[in-house]
Amino acid sequence: MLRGLGARLARHGSCALTGIIAHLRLLPPPRTAPGAGLLCAGAALSRGRVAAGARKNEYDLLVIGGGSGGLACAKEAAQFGRKVAVLDYVEPSPQGTAWGLGGTCVNVGCIPKKLMHQAALLGSSLKDAQHYGWSISQPVHHTWSVMAQSVQNYVKSLNWGHRVQLQEKKVKYFNIKGSFSDPHTVRGLTKAGKETVITADNIVIATGGRPKYPVHVAGALEYGITSDDLFWLKESPGKTLIVGASYVSLECAGFLTGIGLDTTVMMRSIPLRGFDQQMASLVTEHMESYGTKFLKRCFPTKVEKLKSNRLQVTWKNADLGTEETDSFNTVMWAVGRAPDTKTLNLEAAGVKTNSETGKIIVDASEATSVPHIYAIGDITEGRPELTPTAIAAGKLLAQRLFSQSSELMDYDNVPTTVFTPLEYGCVGLSEEAAVQRHGSDNIEFHLIHLHALSLSVLREDLFVMYCFQMVCLREREQRILGLHFIGPNAGEVIQGFALGIKCGATYPQMMKTVGIHPTCAEEVTKLHITKRSGLDATVTGC
Ligand SMILES: Cc1cc2nc3c(=O)[nH]c(=O)nc-3n(C[C@H](O)[C@H](O)[C@H](O)COP(=O)(O)OP(=O)(O)OC[C@H]3O[C@@H](n4cnc5c(N)ncnc54)[C@H](O)[C@@H]3O)c2cc1C
Repeated sequence: MLRGLGARLARHGSCALTGIIAHLRLLPPPRTAPGAGLLCAGAALSRGRVAAGARKNEYDLLVIGGGSGGLACAKEAAQFGRKVAVLDYVEPSPQGTAWGLGGTCVNVGCIPKKLMHQAALLGSSLKDAQHYGWSISQPVHHTWSVMAQSVQNYVKSLNWGHRVQLQEKKVKYFNIKGSFSDPHTVRGLTKAGKETVITADNIVIATGGRPKYPVHVAGALEYGITSDDLFWLKESPGKTLIVGASYVSLECAGFLTGIGLDTTVMMRSIPLRGFDQQMASLVTEHMESYGTKFLKRCFPTKVEKLKSNRLQVTWKNADLGTEETDSFNTVMWAVGRAPDTKTLNLEAAGVKTNSETGKIIVDASEATSVPHIYAIGDITEGRPELTPTAIAAGKLLAQRLFSQSSELMDYDNVPTTVFTPLEYGCVGLSEEAAVQRHGSDNIEFHLIHLHALSLSVLREDLFVMYCFQMVCLREREQRILGLHFIGPNAGEVIQGFALGIKCGATYPQMMKTVGIHPTCAEEVTKLHITKRSGLDATVTGC
């Protein structure tokens, strides 16, 4: 059984556990002198503490946080024969939800989200199927508890698989909450308050982030949930209000709508901040036609519980200057995420954070202000908040620490996808970022908007507009700076192009590429209309 779970975990590509074996190096370099880093950590820090050079630390590497980045780093380090420990502790959400080993992605992020997105897509396919001749004799109905049980069981199998893998790789796992006592010592507490003290030559902080609650909305903490709770609900959330317009908000609203729930998104400003805004508008337009309601330029002021147990939300409409109310079964906050540094006692180690964001400041080698203490993943300042970047950064860090590698993580041209009902995948710069970096005169935007035959002809009720946008330099070889696609399986489509863009692909090369017909992805070879030309980029057909 354990083998089966290990194999399933290894196949589970989005956690990128595969490939670790490939990095196996047989001859680990000599262990660094215990406490060597402390000497560089700043004299002020060391004053009055045990001289690290005088003691032998228990571990070569201690990782605090057993999520995407932390587990990858710990397992990679163990491959080099190093003595490695990983601490992971899940502080229950304000609503009391907790989960197992593996961090955000596995438990309350990518994995349950993608499975619920898949549930919604299946429902849409059932509706489409009737236009293709299928008879669906009974009204299509979705049962939340069945989906939730399947998703939660799958997640639990991944939790177990992670434990098995740590054991197999001889990484010592502690289910304790870690906080620094000094730059080489971490004190951990179990749920029951039992203390363990661990010392290590090198420490990696990979404690990720947690959803924020709004601070000025009465009743927000008492009655609202976040994405940390949504995936673990046993019963349907019912009529749901999601506040915020981040990708987490839109993805959750998308799958809730898709499984037939009355779902509203309340957004104060723009959707998908940081993403290409033309694409973001297409995403929300499609969601509106798909059934998600949007309260734009609105912000909540209070949440109250009614006698019926429903939640009455009061909000202000900034455009109309009015105050409005409605009642919901569930209110979910998706107003951003905060780094999980509160309990780490970073001051005791001298690790510096950005005072505005609270995130840990790191250099290109992921080192913090204390040279033997590193930070990776969502906890770090200026890095993408994505599982694959956390994993890659963790593995490369372990290789630099314990083998001859000097390879740094390259955070440029990282592809990603927003799993809304019509998916949006992108790699490289958005239009806004390209203009900011290169100036509008030096940039060309090639567009194509496609009324997709396969769906919209059959379902006129749906606004289905697939779209490609390519951002290129205008001069010389017209290097591609960014590629954006809205359409089915956008993540699968963009993944391949990410390689081309990483390798410096140009617009003429893309135009010489032969398409695969009939696909949506082939449209990338027909990006002949520039935004500058003002011509309509809409085509019909496939
Ligand atoms: C709803 C949602 C959907 C997402 N979808 C995607 C997606 O589709 N694709 C994608 O790439 N990314 C996605 N992400 C982001 C992704 O989950 C994160 O970027 C990734 O998990 C970050 O990994 P990490 O190692 O930095 O931290 P985490 O995975 O968050 O792990 C940190 C771990 O440290 C533990 N911890 C915290 N403090 C302590 C302490 N003091 N002692 C011990 N343990 C501690 C935490 O409990 C947690 O287990 C999504 C996130 C959310 C919320």
